[in-house]
Amino acid sequence: MKFDQLTAFYHQPLFDLISQSRAVHLERWSGDEVQRCSLLSIKTGGCSEDCAYCAQSSHYSTGIEREELLSIETIAAAAKRARAQGATRFCMGAAWRGVRDGSEKFERVLEIVREVSQLGMEVCVTLGEIGPAEARKLKAAGVTAYNHNVDTSPEFYPEIVSTHTFNDRLNTIAAVQESGMSVCCGGIIGMGESENDRLRTLEVLSNLDPPPESVPINCLMAMPGTPLADQPAVDIFELVRLIAVARIALPNARVRLAAGRTRISREGQALCFFAGANSIFFGDKLLTAKNPEVDLDLSLLRELGLNIESKDRSYVAVALV
Ligand code: SAM
Ligand code: SF4
Repeated sequence: MKFDQLTAFYHQPLFDLISQSRAVHLERWSGDEVQRCSLLSIKTGGCSEDCAYCAQSSHYSTGIEREELLSIETIAAAAKRARAQGATRFCMGAAWRGVRDGSEKFERVLEIVREVSQLGMEVCVTLGEIGPAEARKLKAAGVTAYNHNVDTSPEFYPEIVSTHTFNDRLNTIAAVQESGMSVCCGGIIGMGESENDRLRTLEVLSNLDPPPESVPINCLMAMPGTPLADQPAVDIFELVRLIAVARIALPNARVRLAAGRTRISREGQALCFFAGANSIFFGDKLLTAKNPEVDLDLSLLRELGLNIESKDRSYVAVALV
C-alpha cells in the first residue's frame, strides 16, 4: 500500500478508521481469537550493535550483563514447558548482530533448532543478520519463521542505529523470503519518530513480497542506560490508529501487540484488539523487560470474551545475544 493511502486511512476520525479495520479483520480472521506468544532470552546482553532502544547493546550501561548461550538441555526443557502450557510455536531469537554459516555458534543454533523442532511445535528464530546460506540451513533444520524487525522508517533508522543500515535489515528479510521461511517483521513506536515515520514503516512492510506473516508492533520499553531512557510513553490513540492501519494494510498478517503492554491500560489493550491486533506476547518477561503477568492477561482475555483456548497458536520466542 502507498504512503498516501496509509495517511488517508490514518487521519480519519478514529471510529471511522476502527470500523474499517474491524471489517477487514472479520473478513480474514475470527474476531475473537488472540494468539498468545511467549518470549524467552537464551543468550542475553553484550551485543555489538548500538540500537538506541536496546538494553542488550554493549554500547550502553544498562545493568544487563553478558551471558553465555543457554545449553541445549535448558532450551529443550523450556520448549517442553511451553508446549505443556499449550504453545504450538516456539521461537528462538538472538540479540546478536547476526550469525554466519560455519561458525560454532551457528552450528549450536542448528542443533538447538533440530532438537526443538522435534517437539511438534512451529519453530521461530530471531538471530539478527543472516544471508541466503544461513537461511537455507535454518529452514532445513526445521525453522518455520524468522523474525527480523525493520523497527522504523528508512529515514529515521540512522537516528537509532549506526552500526548497521536499514538496507542490511532488508537484505536479511530478502534472504529469509528466498529460503521459504515465513517472515515476522514489525517496528517500534515511541522512539521520537514522527507519525509519518510510522506510516512509512507500514508502507515498507506492506510492500514486502510476500508481506510478512506476522507484524509485531512494539511500544518502546524505555530502558535505563540507553539513549532513549527518558522517552515518554506512546499515546494510546496513536497506537490504536497505527494498529488499525496495519490491519488494513496487512490483512493476512498476525498483528502482534508486542513490547510495552505493561504501560497500556486494560481498556487501551481492549481497544487495540478491537482495532485489529490478534496476537500478544504471553509470559512474565519479554527478553530483558517486564511483560504483564500471565494471570492478568488470561483474566483480561476472558473478560473481553476473547479466545484463550489452546487451539489458538501460542508462540514462544527465545533470545540469544
Ligand atoms: N538481535 C536481533 C535483532 O536485532 O534482530 C534479535 C533480537 S532484538 C532484541 C529483537 C527486537 O526486539 C528488536 O528488533 C526490537 O524490535 C525489539 N526490542 C528490543 N528492545 C526493545 C525495547 N526496549 N522496546 C521495544 N522493543 C524492543
Ligand atoms: Fe539489541 Fe538486536 Fe540491536 Fe543487538 S542487534 S543491540 S540485540 S536490537
